[in-house]
Amino acid sequence: MQAELEKLLILQDRDQKIRQIGIEIRTLPQQRKNLEAQLAATAASLESLKQRARQLEVERKKLELDVGTRQSSISRLKTQQYETRKNDEFQAMGHEIERYEKEIVQLEDQELELMEQADKLRAEIATAEKTAAAGRDSVSRQLADLDEKTKTLQTQLEELKNERVQLSQNIDEEVRERYERLFASKGDAAVVAVEHGVCTGCHMKVTTATAVHAKSGNEIVSCEQCGRILYVAESPATRKDRPRLAGARSYKAKFYTLKRNSMTSPSFTT
Ligand SMILES: [Zn+2]
Repeated sequence: MQAELEKLLILQDRDQKIRQIGIEIRTLPQQRKNLEAQLAATAASLESLKQRARQLEVERKKLELDVGTRQSSISRLKTQQYETRKNDEFQAMGHEIERYEKEIVQLEDQELELMEQADKLRAEIATAEKTAAAGRDSVSRQLADLDEKTKTLQTQLEELKNERVQLSQNIDEEVRERYERLFASKGDAAVVAVEHGVCTGCHMKVTTATAVHAKSGNEIVSCEQCGRILYVAESPATRKDRPRLAGARSYKAKFYTLKRNSMTSPSFTT
């Protein structure tokens, strides 16, 4: 039974890795979306600055046209002034010319104001363009990293799944099925250590009999509280005497060497 437990722990290690990688892979599309949203936001803020610049130019051109209209009116009035012989008409035209000239001064002041705004905006746009370009570079690097990471994770997943198939073939079917049901339902681990008489799966104390059975390693023992399969880790003193188990690097401990026992031991129930 001890050998079966060791195999189960290796299988569980691979299953946990498979689960972890699966979780990581599922977060990748969201990471990609976040990066793309970042790009879109930068592009949108740059575009809104450019839109404002275009708007300023339209406003400035309109002022220019308004100035032009008044200048034509002034020339027309000046011509008319030369043509008239009536003093009051001449003076009225003079007043109108003055009014237009004042308006032109105001319009040109406004135009100047808009040109100053446009200058500031151009500087802002230049800065924003640099920032956006740097952002695009950074995002495209991160997207490439994500692609790379996706490939790596998928390869790892494939390898683990293949390894899992190999491993599970060497485990007693009944034991394996019991383990698989537990692993699927518990969400973390199906095979857990008993430490100081406490199940490390549910953190409840196990009965003395269960602890003794688990320690003997002669049978597959379940925690009375949570149903997880229990094992007792070997003490550090004896651990170094034993050869290291292949693929056992994730174990917190190994097991006492114990004689195999039959699968049909009394506590092997589901
Ligand atoms: Zn438990």
